[in-house]
Amino acid sequence: MPPDTDLRAHERALDLPAPCDAALRFIGRIRTPFERREDCPRQGRPDGPECRIVLDEPWVPALRGLEAFARIEVLYWLHESRRDLVLQNPRRDGRVVGTLALRSPVRPNPIGTALVVLERIEGATLVVRGLDCLDGTPLLDIKPEHCPFGPGAAPAAPE
Ligand code: SAM
Repeated sequence: MPPDTDLRAHERALDLPAPCDAALRFIGRIRTPFERREDCPRQGRPDGPECRIVLDEPWVPALRGLEAFARIEVLYWLHESRRDLVLQNPRRDGRVVGTLALRSPVRPNPIGTALVVLERIEGATLVVRGLDCLDGTPLLDIKPEHCPFGPGAAPAAPE
């Protein structure tokens, strides 16, 4: 049972079976200074505190080439979110908004995304600014800000 089970006024939840139709693989953990949800910013900022993305060891070779990017996209699993709300009352003021019209962490599949500033890479750890998630949030994926092999991109470095 997620910790935030109370509904706010006007919110509506679905009675869903336990999710079991897709399997995601966590590839690391995100370390942030935010220990409680209320400590997290609503969205990260490029001048936010340094956070550390700690990749599981087998995935470290997958970082090759990422150091060339000033900004990277991080995908993470908002693991403490409930997943059954269709309508939400985000400001607790009676204004009701559909879940898919929000960037709320409460969603059917609680995937968070953030475009963050890549400060440096230290082995398996990426030091970034611009995250908004709890300390210990599972890491799903990392992508460069744009495709390195698109039109106009520099040739790849030789092996
Ligand atoms: N930047 C992401 C996005 O737009 O997809 C997430 C935005 S969401 C509004 C960020 C909020 O989610 C934080 O302010 C915090 O309240 C909550 N949150 C952060 N980490 C979480 C976690 N691991 N589980 C559940 N909620 C979390």
